[in-house]
Amino acid sequence: MNDMTKKMREVAKELLSNGDVKVIIGWEKGTFPNISCPAFIDKPEDVERLVWDDYCHANLSSYLLDYRKSDDKIGIFVKGCDSRGVNRLLQDLQATREKIYVIGIPCTGLKDSETNEKPQKCVECRYPNPLIYDKLIGEEQKLNEVAATVEAREFKDVKGIEAMNTEEKNQFWEDNYSSCIRCYACRNICSACNCTSCIFDTTATQGWIGKANNVDENKFFALTRAFHVAGRCVECGECERVCPMNIPIMSLNRKLTQDIGDLFGEFDAGVNVESPLPLGHFDKLNDPEEFK
Ligand code: SF4
Ligand code: SF4
Ligand code: SF4
Repeated sequence: MNDMTKKMREVAKELLSNGDVKVIIGWEKGTFPNISCPAFIDKPEDVERLVWDDYCHANLSSYLLDYRKSDDKIGIFVKGCDSRGVNRLLQDLQATREKIYVIGIPCTGLKDSETNEKPQKCVECRYPNPLIYDKLIGEEQKLNEVAATVEAREFKDVKGIEAMNTEEKNQFWEDNYSSCIRCYACRNICSACNCTSCIFDTTATQGWIGKANNVDENKFFALTRAFHVAGRCVECGECERVCPMNIPIMSLNRKLTQDIGDLFGEFDAGVNVESPLPLGHFDKLNDPEEFK
């Protein structure tokens, strides 16, 4: 057992034994090799399930949405990138700071489950240390050399698509979204997709967004979701990681991140809960409606 796993279990055991939290969200070994899954631990004797390894990819922050109506305090482990998701929920008023206990893990990068290589997001990681936590376990990490010296904001993937002509771009997205099965895994895993009533589930939008699984509806779905998370996407890459059809969803998100940077100045969502968002911002004091 590695040191970090040991520390995780110790912290979790203490919090659960003292009744400080009702549940702890962490990672455990899954059924498949090279994948560690989300774990929900509510008994001190179950903390032995928790692990920290190279495959703790899941950004656990979106699971806090399952507890948004609960009065219980929830513990959650976060890597640097996950912590931006927690901030996303706090800023959107979908989580309450006093009702979560955040255990931060400074991160040295993960391995891709299939290739065992460092994924691009880890190569370019600019936030290896959690931006919000109540307790930090492990040593703070320095920004890695690549992120510090190379422009992590080169948006190479985006530039590649931008270089295509209109027909090629259309073909590119048609080829990709013809395989979309509208499983909504990309939405369900996303901490920025946190509306209590989602446009893709409601019948109120009939005529605008169809539920048929065909390439035109799928492209419209993709664009709608990309615009809904524009300026709020915390770039965790989870939507693309969980897509069973390997659709390059991040290229859409990153295109909007790039354009927002060009238009309004560089902005990293989920870094500072106090920073106004470049696009729509819910004004809790003056908005006549609750954020839904
Ligand atoms: S992006 Fe950064 S914090 Fe997130 S898993 Fe990779 S190295 Fe860790
Ligand atoms: S996860 Fe992939 S296949 Fe599923 S709805 Fe999203 S884009 Fe389509
Ligand atoms: S859109 Fe994708 S990358 Fe952005 S916050 Fe949601 S899951 Fe993460």
